[in-house]
Amino acid sequence: MVVDVVSPYTVAVAQFDEAAERLGLSQSLRAILRMPKRELIVNFPVRMDNGDVEMFTGYRVQHNINRGPAKGGIRFSPEVSLDEVRALAMWMTWKCAVVGIPFGGAKGGVICDPHKLSRAELERLSRRYATEISILIGPNSDIPAPDMNTNPQIMGWMMDTFSMHQGYSVPAVITGKPLAIGGSEGRLEATARGVQVVTREAMRDLGMRPEDCTVVVQGFGNVGSISARLLHEMGCRVVGLSDIQGGVYNANGIDVHRALRFSKEHGNLKGMPETEPVTNAELLELPCDVLVPAALENQLTGRNASRVRASLVIEAANGPTTPDADRIFNDRGITVVPDILANAGGVTVSYFEWVQDLQRFFWSENEINHRLESIMERSYRSVHLKAMEQETNLRMGAYLLAVTRVAEATEIRGVYP
Ligand code: NAD
Repeated sequence: MVVDVVSPYTVAVAQFDEAAERLGLSQSLRAILRMPKRELIVNFPVRMDNGDVEMFTGYRVQHNINRGPAKGGIRFSPEVSLDEVRALAMWMTWKCAVVGIPFGGAKGGVICDPHKLSRAELERLSRRYATEISILIGPNSDIPAPDMNTNPQIMGWMMDTFSMHQGYSVPAVITGKPLAIGGSEGRLEATARGVQVVTREAMRDLGMRPEDCTVVVQGFGNVGSISARLLHEMGCRVVGLSDIQGGVYNANGIDVHRALRFSKEHGNLKGMPETEPVTNAELLELPCDVLVPAALENQLTGRNASRVRASLVIEAANGPTTPDADRIFNDRGITVVPDILANAGGVTVSYFEWVQDLQRFFWSENEINHRLESIMERSYRSVHLKAMEQETNLRMGAYLLAVTRVAEATEIRGVYP
């Protein structure tokens, strides 16, 4: 595993500072937008199956809510930290602005290893965390969603917990729920569908044909596995895949449907027939045309960026590329579709889910996918145009668009009182 000790929040602020400088943003707007609006730290007990009580720490950070209620996922991982949650909240603000949906940015997380918890322990932890952050969340104030190691069932428990406190069902308090309780068609695949759309558009701009392209995907969870499948279905040859246990490689192509079955059966990709094992570090440096990091932050760094062989990097994960790596990619002419655009499909369909829940009126999967596709395509085009106009890369193009929109809303609303 390639891990550089880079603070994600420092990275997020550096990216914002560069955009603010280019935009000539006033000092007061810079000061406001550099910091999260609210940060909640909760320490709470959970009764374990053996009767012991264990303490857990969780966070909910709201970065900015000038364009609408706060929105952002909840991550369960031993590596969760306030620094990481702050960065992820800030990226959510820009992401919602890039795709033009009326939300601000937030993120949450609990320091825990969900793989070591029983289902009952996971439920008690999820419900207690939802209770602890219920002073912030609500359908009009802050709407969580799934992220790493959280899923529709966990969203269901959290929605139920919040609803129990209210005395009636409040489906719009959380998105990414199962369909049976107000989830949306297409939500599970939404982030990956967005990844597919931006990959297709970027390939078009670069004159790459899917059927001539090889793809490597890091991470085989919700985003990585479905992205791999959709890119495979688009005609690309997927040659490398990985999960936390390591990667698998076959230069002639991996049957992604088979990999999905294998991973489901064995819990990971290790030992998949007709593939050779590679480490996660080696995976990122495999020969391929398109590299899709879909696991976690800080994977492409100053240490390995010069050895990356892809000509197109699609940031399905949040913050996978450090600023050092970004500079190296820029110098080497490698195109990076930034996270705040590339993985915005998830929050876009979360927005659709929230709207459907508020209206108690549900749309067909076709309608969802169609609207998602048009938002992702339009957003990619706006970012691309901005980057061309400003003679910069797609990341800065996305930041210039997003920061302008959030700064405008912040300016119009003014400084209270
Ligand atoms: P997930 O928990 O479903 O899957 C994560 C995958 O990454 C798993 O396959 C896991 O084995 C792998 N992984 C974990 N640690 C790893 C490591 N050290 N090295 C290599 N692989 C590792 O999570 P997800 O929802 O697919 O999220 C993945 C990324 O996409 C995160 O950065 C998340 O913030 C981002 N994202 C998710 C959504 C969403 O809708 N779920 C939306 C936008 C962005």
